[in-house]
Order: sequence, then structure tokens, then C-alpha cells
Amino acid sequence: MAEKKVPFNLAQVQEITRTYPTPFHIYDEEGIRTNARRLKAAFSWAPEFKEYFAVKATPNPYLLALLKEEGFGADCSSLAELYLAQAAGIGGEEIMFSSNATPANEYQAAVDMGAVINLDDISHIEYLTEHVGMPEMISFRYNPGPLMAGGNDIIGYPEEAKYGLTKEQILQAYPMAKAKGATRFGLHTMVISNELSPDGFVTTAKMMFDLIGEIYEKTGIRMELVDFGGGIGVPYRPEQEAVDLEYVGEGVRRAYEEMIFAKGLAPLKITMECGRMITGPYGYLVATALHKKEIYKNYVGLDACMANLMRPALYGSYHHITVLGKEGLPCDHVYDVTGSLCENNDKFAVDRELPEINRGDVVVIHDAGAHGHAMGFNYNGKLRSAELLLRPDHSVKLIRRAETLADHFATLDFPGAALDMSSILKK
Ligand SMILES: *Cc1c(COP(=O)(O)O)cnc(C)c1O
Repeated sequence: MAEKKVPFNLAQVQEITRTYPTPFHIYDEEGIRTNARRLKAAFSWAPEFKEYFAVKATPNPYLLALLKEEGFGADCSSLAELYLAQAAGIGGEEIMFSSNATPANEYQAAVDMGAVINLDDISHIEYLTEHVGMPEMISFRYNPGPLMAGGNDIIGYPEEAKYGLTKEQILQAYPMAKAKGATRFGLHTMVISNELSPDGFVTTAKMMFDLIGEIYEKTGIRMELVDFGGGIGVPYRPEQEAVDLEYVGEGVRRAYEEMIFAKGLAPLKITMECGRMITGPYGYLVATALHKKEIYKNYVGLDACMANLMRPALYGSYHHITVLGKEGLPCDHVYDVTGSLCENNDKFAVDRELPEINRGDVVVIHDAGAHGHAMGFNYNGKLRSAELLLRPDHSVKLIRRAETLADHFATLDFPGAALDMSSILKK
């Protein structure tokens, strides 16, 4: 079984908590950069390769700027995500706007920024033209429906998914967009999510290369860019293995040679929109054990809750837990590790074998770097935590401060002493 390691020790965390109390999210810069370089290297054979980091995974401009330094762009699907990308210095066609059910003002902002617009439906050609105008470069999201077997729990089966155009619509959409003035074209899909089998990605690439050939044969339209979406999984469980990126890169290269290059359809820009695998394994939720209780089961209550990481409660996902300083001890206790929400599914782990946990122990929840802080919410008046960046020299940089009650009440305009922040903040 692979050991799941933490890039800091108890003494370092105790030092950090003198300035930044738990709970907090902390991201390992070196881990993120090394992984980013590995992904790029796997596709270095391509005439052009771009990873548009899916901003929703970890929408923090410091991390986006770090990824931009590694050559990444941004995959955005809302106004806020567009602004975050812009704040990080990512602009123009380094932005892929893969949105759905999009309001006109968001298309307008994306077009103003020069982003590549990736339309989710054939009817959006008219909507975009009417409200904003057809840009020179346009992409469409393909949903293969029952033409592609498989699918998985998070994204469901393609024919059940709300996204994209059918095959028939794809073949109509490009000539329609061309008639409205588009001259450059992209093709996008996203059919798998959190997938660990490398063959699925090669299969997706082949399906897309095949479709690019068919679009050219039937409409005469040449594709400039293909986007395989995201979906590379994270080995959340110790016994799981990360996706072999070199294998995927090599498989896609061979398919490219055969299906694109040999058919005169090169050069084709290869792009992806991975989010989860870029930051997920390199982020940790660090919490403190506040309480222990023994009733019909044994519980450890943390100062973090599902407002800091909702994946276990939402999907029943496994997130590995390390009790800092007790890494070498036997896992001879069984706990439900919980948060403080008045929601019985507010549990980070159920029936987990761990070393004995005492009050005050530092509990680290692994693989929280994607869809962790990002999915935060304020139910029960819980405040979102700080985000920290662990630098390669082991110094720590605050990249988002923790929310305060004043932040939480900022949208309320209710007269009365109870919400008078000046009295609350003195406490
Ligand atoms: C969520 C999403 C991604 C990123 O998916 P990961 O599983 O994080 O790699 C990419 N593109 C679109 C359109 C998405 O919705």
C-alpha cells in the first residue's frame, strides 16, 4: 500500500498555528509545480499544448499566477472565474470559457477579454450572435451520448449529462458559426471525471480525432484546437495509483500520428482543462481535534467541518487522514471524524482506523487541494478558513485570510445591537 505523506511535520504546523490558527488549507507549491511540469512533458510532442487549469477546483489568484508561470491558462465558467484569471495575468486565448446556461453579460466579458468561447449548445450560436456577436474563434462542446460507453458517478453517463451538443448538432453547428463570421474553430468534450484508468483518456482522444476527421469530410471545416476537458483523477485512497501521464501522452501521440497527421489535419493544438489532478493531491486541510465522545460509536470532533471540505459528505468520498506526530503509531482505534454542523453527514471519515486521537491533536485531511475550500459555504454560520501556500523553502505565505463574522454579516443591513460588529469584534 502506498504511503500517503505530508510535506510538513508537527513542529512546523505548531509554528504555523501561532500565526494562523486551525482550520486552514495549505498548498504545497513544489508539489504543484512538479506535477504541472510532468503533465506538460507528457504532451511535449504536440505541435502546441495548453492546459487550461479549471479555476473552479481552486479559485485562488495566487495559485493561478503560479500555474501561469508553468505555462498554464485558465478554464473559466463564470464572471468571477474570468476576473480571477485576469487578476492572475491570464488573458486572451489563454482563457477557455467552458460555461453552460450562460448569461449574456458573462459571454460579453469573456469576448471582451479575448477568451476562447466554448458553446454548450447549438442554440447558443444565435444567443451569442444576438447579444454579443460571433467572435473569430469559436469552440463547441461535444456530448457523445450513448455513442460512448462508460461514464462514472460524478459526471454520470454522457446521455444523462446536461452538457454539450449531439453528434448531429455538432455537424450543423460549425457551418452555422462560419456563416455568422467565425473563421477559427475548436472542439471540446468532457466525458469522464475523477478517472484513474489511463486508457479512458486515450479512448476519448481517439473519439475526438475521429470526429475532427468527420467534420472536415462533411463540412470542409478544419479544426485548429481540440480540448479533452478535465477528468484526470486523484488517487484518494492509499491503495490507488495516480494516472500514468506519460502513458496517456504517448497513447494520444500515436493516435494523433494516425488520425490527424497522416490525414493532413495537422497541426492541431492539443488542450486540456484539468483541475482536480493539478492541485488536489497538493492541498491539505489542517484541523485540530476539539472533542472526543463515546456513545454507540466513538467520535472525534474537529474545528473543521464540511463547510471546509464537503466531498466526504456530498459524495461519500474517501479522504485519507494523518494524525500529525502519530504517523508511526498503530491504527488500533476506530473513529468517526466529524465536523460541527447540525447535519449528521458532516463527517470526514466513518469507521476509520486511526491511532488514538487526543484533544488538541493536529489532524490532516489529504487531497483537499481541489473542490475543498472552493466548495465552501456558510451554513450554520460557519466561516471559511484561510488558505496558505507552503513555499519550496518551507516558509508559509497567506494567500487568503480567514473569513470573519464581519464578512459573514456584510450583506445584512439589519439595525440592532446583536449585529453591531464593533462589539462583536472586541471579543
Ligand atoms: C469541472 C470541469 C473541468 C475540470 O475537471 P477536473 O475533474 O477537475 O479535471 C474541466 N472542464 C469543465 C467544463 C468542467 O466542468
